Amino acid sequence: MEKVSDYFGSMVFDDRVMKANLPAKVYHSLKKTIDEEAQLDISLANAVAAAMKDWAVAHGATHYTHWFQPLTGVTAEKHDSFITPSPDGGVIMEFSGKELIKGEPDASSFPSGGLRATFEARGYTAWDPTSYAFIKGKTLCIPTAFCSYGGEALDKKTPLLRSMEALNRQALRILRLFGNDTVKCVRTSVGPEQEYFLITKEMYDQRPDLRFTGRTLFGAKSPKGQEMDDHYFGVIKPRVAAYMEELNEELWKLGILAKTEHNEVAPAQHELAPIYTTTNIATDHNQLTMEIMQKVAAKHGLVCLLHEKPFAGVNGSGKHNNWSLSTDSGVNLLSPGETPYENAQFLLFLCAVIKAVDDYQDLLRISVATAGNDHRLGANEAPPAVVSIFLGDELNAVLEAIESGTPYSGTEKTQLKLGVDVLPDFNRDTTDRNRTSPFAFTGNKFEFRMLGSSNSIACANIMLNSAVAESLKIYADRLEGVEDFETALQEMIRKTIKDHKRIIFNGNGYDDTWIREATQERGLLNYRTTPDCMPHLLDEKNVRMLTSHGVFSEAELESRCEIMLENYCKAVRIEANTMVDMARTQIAPAVEAYTFKLAQAAAAKKAVDATLACRYESGLIGRLSALTDAIAARVEELEKLVAELPASGDMIAEANGIRASILPKMAELRAACDEAETLTAKSDWPFPTYGDLLFGVR
Ligand code: ADP
Ligand code: MG
Repeated sequence: MEKVSDYFGSMVFDDRVMKANLPAKVYHSLKKTIDEEAQLDISLANAVAAAMKDWAVAHGATHYTHWFQPLTGVTAEKHDSFITPSPDGGVIMEFSGKELIKGEPDASSFPSGGLRATFEARGYTAWDPTSYAFIKGKTLCIPTAFCSYGGEALDKKTPLLRSMEALNRQALRILRLFGNDTVKCVRTSVGPEQEYFLITKEMYDQRPDLRFTGRTLFGAKSPKGQEMDDHYFGVIKPRVAAYMEELNEELWKLGILAKTEHNEVAPAQHELAPIYTTTNIATDHNQLTMEIMQKVAAKHGLVCLLHEKPFAGVNGSGKHNNWSLSTDSGVNLLSPGETPYENAQFLLFLCAVIKAVDDYQDLLRISVATAGNDHRLGANEAPPAVVSIFLGDELNAVLEAIESGTPYSGTEKTQLKLGVDVLPDFNRDTTDRNRTSPFAFTGNKFEFRMLGSSNSIACANIMLNSAVAESLKIYADRLEGVEDFETALQEMIRKTIKDHKRIIFNGNGYDDTWIREATQERGLLNYRTTPDCMPHLLDEKNVRMLTSHGVFSEAELESRCEIMLENYCKAVRIEANTMVDMARTQIAPAVEAYTFKLAQAAAAKKAVDATLACRYESGLIGRLSALTDAIAARVEELEKLVAELPASGDMIAEANGIRASILPKMAELRAACDEAETLTAKSDWPFPTYGDLLFGVR
């Protein structure tokens, strides 16, 4: 068998390939473009395109595509072949620098939230040379940004790159203040842990709810769920192991650093974590990973569910966004250092994150808001909808000591003076105990745990990068030009701790008393649902911050708010329609058929002995008839509510209406159907049950 190191990245036009296939001058210019985000001129682009095409053709590619991430949440591609007719009637394979740099997909069908008038339907895609091109199937995929002709971002990559640049600018200012003149750039890195469910394709095909919405809309609790905790880290079943093995191979060929895999808490739930990498690449890789997960599953007769809440009553799936900041020389700025100066710097960056998370709780919440994720956040399994930071007792004690100017009573009794003392050696192992925190410091990185499993990680990182850039900007504005840097620094750190300690919470985030304390005593935000939080994207403070760093324009923010609410409404409408359809055409008829069988059985028995009471049949017939009536009534009501939704184009009103009337009615309809399921013969139930689905992969 081939060694992993032999085929790792074999489908990627990476640094090794570029070095081997590009003239030295072209290679160095391209490197410069990548490292310093410099412009690439057209003659160099032609040379890169030619080498890329030769390499791709040699690896079996016939087509190329600009691969981009529109606001639908999935990736988009339009394939063009390399062929160009030659005068002799044959074809040659061609690919120019112009085609590499810029594409013009017909963009009129992608969501734009009104940004792109329909007469100007052509958006354009622009090559992102910082993310390597790769081959998928027979197509060379070129990672690109997607914009309107007016330059407005229509995708997730453009603002992500802008937010990385904003953070880089401000972080460099801070590093210069600490006397570091050699660092060229500061980048954020992310390692996203991806959760998912695997079920059999055969059962999936029998469930319209899974096919249309990605989650089950009906299903009585299985006699066994996750209560035994026997799945988490349990032995991986052979069929799942075979899936994981092929998945790893496919990801490795694409240069994706798939590293860890294990069973998760719920039956049929698993997790895959890659080794962290630069944020925009991690984002591209995570999108690709989700796609490949589904493709490989199909080859194994399985379906990979990426929905946040495929099954009621068992854990849903999230995505942990492990985030850190580091310099081009490889120094992690969130890692406590060896010297007092390094530690003062560490504390300043730590404070920048604390301040950012407190000041922009709303943006972080918004960045993970979808109809699917609303089923997790605040629903007793994922972190709550309240954003808070876990630091661990020791780091917390350090901050408290700084704030109050009292000696730190950890290992050594010293009064901390930044820039003079070495930080006490707090034990990193104690920093990762809390699994209920939405935003946990884990030794040298922060783990943002509110993301849903199907979310692109772009949104969360755009907001995180921007908010931290804003803290750093405020610090740099204050510290640049002060006479006594150390005193000013100490003061600033103390002030941050004092002003923002309300966001730090080291207890159990799932506890109801915490929600009360957070909202009533600390004044933290608790936006439970997407319609609650999304409109705040346009709050003045948020618009000001995001536009001042050049991450979004005001028009872009307005369009995004509109699109996110529209996505929410569409998702729930599809769910409601699917429920109506399944209840009316599958569930009610099944219950009715079974009731009829019971009636026939009773009649047959009575024909034999007229004195028989047939209590079993008549009792059940009574209950099932009542349930069929309830189902029929609720179907009518739900259908009516959907029809009555405001269609004025006011997305906030529509989203609020959906949350207030449609979701509760869906829950009522489900309750009646689920009860009927527990009373109906299994052989008459029209689709696989929770027990079948959750324990079906063997
Ligand atoms: P967990 O205990 O949460 O499983 P791990 O240490 O296994 O934590 O890491 C989870 C993820 O965090 C992995 O994707 C890993 O690559 C990533 N990670 C580790 N160090 C960093 C870092 N400095 N910056 C960003 N991500 C990191
Ligand atoms: Mg983790």
